[in-house]
Amino acid sequence: MSPDTALSDATGTALSDAAASAHDRDAAHVMATYARRRPVFVRGQGTVLFDADGSTWLDFLGGLAVTGLGHSHPAVAAAVREQAGMLQHTSNLFLTEPMLGLAERLADVTGWDDARVFFANCGATANEAAIKLARRHGKSIHPDKVRIVTLDRSFHGRTMATLEATGQPEKHVPFEPLMGYVDTVAHDDPAAVAAAVTDDHCAVLLEVVQGEGGVRPIDPAVLAAARTACDDHDALLIVDEVQTGIGRLGEWFGFQTTDVVPDVITIAKALANGLPIGACVAHGPAAEAFGPGDHATTFGGNPVTAAAANAVIDTIRNDGLLHTARVRSARLTGALDGLAARHDLVSGWRGRGLLLGVELTQPVAPAVEAAAEADGLIVNAVGDDLVRLAPPLTVSNAEIASAITILTNALDHASTT
Ligand SMILES: *Cc1c(COP(=O)(O)O)cnc(C)c1O
Repeated sequence: MSPDTALSDATGTALSDAAASAHDRDAAHVMATYARRRPVFVRGQGTVLFDADGSTWLDFLGGLAVTGLGHSHPAVAAAVREQAGMLQHTSNLFLTEPMLGLAERLADVTGWDDARVFFANCGATANEAAIKLARRHGKSIHPDKVRIVTLDRSFHGRTMATLEATGQPEKHVPFEPLMGYVDTVAHDDPAAVAAAVTDDHCAVLLEVVQGEGGVRPIDPAVLAAARTACDDHDALLIVDEVQTGIGRLGEWFGFQTTDVVPDVITIAKALANGLPIGACVAHGPAAEAFGPGDHATTFGGNPVTAAAANAVIDTIRNDGLLHTARVRSARLTGALDGLAARHDLVSGWRGRGLLLGVELTQPVAPAVEAAAEADGLIVNAVGDDLVRLAPPLTVSNAEIASAITILTNALDHASTT
């Protein structure tokens, strides 16, 4: 998007020489898959990001709902430092303590005594593991039980299998042909989900709040229909908790804010507060579906990333951050109600916990994103008419108040351009 130079100059966030040079180097030698934003950050602390010139931004995006404890959390930094100085990698031919401790913690926070974990490297590879697990489970029942059902506007990753499971056809087109193993149905129609699942399906894969697809909480009736259809057809209900897990919705996992218990969940983004990690957690018969040699990845369960994840879980528990997230969510959504009442451009908000979307009455979300950034607030436009907010669980009331002030100014700016 084109930078608003006048506004940037007025607020002191015009590109510095260092940032301009970084963008030039990116263009020269990094593949052009990302539309980069302007600031180049060198440091972060809590909710605040700093560039090389010492300019600061309030981060209400958290690296895409990743830095749930805020930037550079001391407990995570200490765990990484300590583990990196002790043992960095062994491969899965050998056991390491941080991986074992993380599997036990995940069994604890899911509430599943018989939970078993496969460690992956990110959200997409956690979902790949879940899809392969569901196939393995399905094929043990009958050989054609390999198809999965997903919802439109879903997002499950960018590998070939997870791309196909992503209910956004515009993302498929450049990479067709796909494998043809996915049936995508409307995200808001319980009858459609019920009708789609057959004995040839091994799983339904869905998010309880669609993140990338527009911060859209799932209709409880759709979730219930998916659970019933899976039970009726011996399919696994997989909830993709990559964005909603690890406290983002005010519970450890998004499903814990609903009445439904899945067979499998996938986790990634916030699990290690920014280090690359993914996990596929199953219980019941699904937990037994993989045997030796069925799936593997070199870095899965890496001691350094697992130590970081252990520090994240312990910090959330010891600091009572699930409760904090619920309290801050109430504060932030209350402020958004106020904003909707007094600003023509805002019709309301949607989402849950600290994964929220500000609904706009006009397609100016990219302009709001740019104006907020120029004024010291990082948020992101999801589509044309929604601004996503995903601050850390630790966000303070004062930071919420500042963010609302900047967002109001950004809306004013967007409505006059
Ligand atoms: C981000 C995301 C993914 C993909 O995770 P990566 O780590 O980018 O591979 C999958 N599912 C959901 C719900 C996500 O938000």
